[in-house]
Amino acid sequence: MHEATVIANIVDAVLEELGKHKVKKVNSVTMVVGDLTELGYEQMEFAWGVLTENNILKGSKIIFEPEKIVVRCKDPACGFEGPCKEIDMGEDTYEHNIPVLSCPVCGGGVEVVQGMACRIKSLDVDLEEEENRCSITGTQRRPGRSSRRRRS
Ligand SMILES: [Zn+2]
Repeated sequence: MHEATVIANIVDAVLEELGKHKVKKVNSVTMVVGDLTELGYEQMEFAWGVLTENNILKGSKIIFEPEKIVVRCKDPACGFEGPCKEIDMGEDTYEHNIPVLSCPVCGGGVEVVQGMACRIKSLDVDLEEEENRCSITGTQRRPGRSSRRRRS
């Protein structure tokens, strides 16, 4: 099961990163997953649940952020760069659409510039010390209080 291997690597990487901080609790881990990787979100979510059962990640959520496929035409005279065509598998199937890896303009060969990603984007954690309230992502937990001023 390919998904389990990917998640095992992600779990290792996350645990290593967490070792550098005094982390109390992990809320969620966000992963960027390219459409070309053909990784199943459901399988990965399942693997996450299993592989985080006995460590600090227990109870945390894994969030997937899809990355669209972008191709660049190898023919400099054409120069197309953008989304590739896809063969629609229809709505009544759980299969991903099939990407067509050729230039939608001239039909020539392409280079994939985006869509292969499989990486951790951010971690949302609670740190031990209260003063250190920020998460590794830098998200602010408390919304800044804006002083109300009336404009006439
Ligand atoms: Zn082209």
